[in-house]
Amino acid sequence: MFNALVVNKDAESGKTNASVQSINVSDLPDGDVLIDVEFSTVNYKDGLCIGPGGGLVRNYPHVPGIDFAGTVAESSDDRYKAGDRVVLTGWRVGEVHWGGYAQKARVKADWLVPLPDGLTTRQAMAVGTAGFTAMLAVMALENQGMVKGEKPVLVTGAAGGVGSVATAILANLGYNVAAVTGRAEASEYLTSLGATQIVPREELNETTKRPLESENWAGCVDAVGGDMLARVLGQMCYGASVAAVGLAGGAGLPATVIPFLLRGVNLLGIDSVMQPYDNRLAAWQRIASDLPMDKLEAMINPATLSDLPSLGSDILKGQVRGRVVVDVN
Ligand code: NDP
Repeated sequence: MFNALVVNKDAESGKTNASVQSINVSDLPDGDVLIDVEFSTVNYKDGLCIGPGGGLVRNYPHVPGIDFAGTVAESSDDRYKAGDRVVLTGWRVGEVHWGGYAQKARVKADWLVPLPDGLTTRQAMAVGTAGFTAMLAVMALENQGMVKGEKPVLVTGAAGGVGSVATAILANLGYNVAAVTGRAEASEYLTSLGATQIVPREELNETTKRPLESENWAGCVDAVGGDMLARVLGQMCYGASVAAVGLAGGAGLPATVIPFLLRGVNLLGIDSVMQPYDNRLAAWQRIASDLPMDKLEAMINPATLSDLPSLGSDILKGQVRGRVVVDVN
């Protein structure tokens, strides 16, 4: 028996209820690898899955947790053996497959990535899906020729999970980072992660009739989408790229194509869920080398399984700062 956060749905009212319960290993879904989970974290999607699901969860009872890190207990796949340290993000684990809010998980070997040397399971979940996605975004911007210079790289939703990790990685790589936040009280935190400029959210979340403004940004990791992304596109330097990661501010994009046509601006889509294995491995290795671990430590808010129902609703309200690390044991 082991502990898990189990979400049940009342068939009549449709209401969901999440609580920590003791369940059996035989309750776990099929898979090639059984893992002793050590840490998980809280993402926006987790907020949805802990609550009514937002259409992501198909069957109840459900164990959420879209990412986790731990140690292999048993494996019927040659690539993994007992004692290996692994990390999992994506593949709709925690949505259609039971996830990481449990002391054990059983998953497909294809979904796992070996933890790089130098990264603990706790650090891996301080990074989590949010940080992994931030790394993918930075890699995509680099591949597209992002230039290191005086002009800063903009990070939107900077005090959130994706934004915090993107800020710390970019600053460590030697880019000037301009961090957009709606929380004035987060300025000191963002500066401590390496941001050299703080941009108040209200400066960027209003639409403008001007399709092009001054060329301000050498690149952008955008966790916000919506009006802010539309505005930012018109402020990019010639030939620069925006990595579109999130929709914290909305899924719409009320923009014109003018920045693409007159400034050669690129809009790069970033998906972490179905990312191919080689790229996953490369991203985790880059995280181990390029994310300063003291900065990561400063982002961590520790939590346990029983904290998850309230943290799930906090993240949906945009009230979580940095990275929550859930010690499932
Ligand atoms: P967080 O909730 O931790 O951070 C989002 C941040 O966005 C907030 O902290 C806030 O930052 C800012 N924000 C919130 N609401 C608004 C608003 N209405 N307008 C402008 N800014 C706002 O989430 P994550 O960092 O974990 O994820 C960010 C986004 O990325 C989410 O939409 C998530 O779904 C998406 N995502 C996508 C992935 C992919 O594979 N593409 C993977 C992981 C996440 P501040 O307080 O500093 O303003």
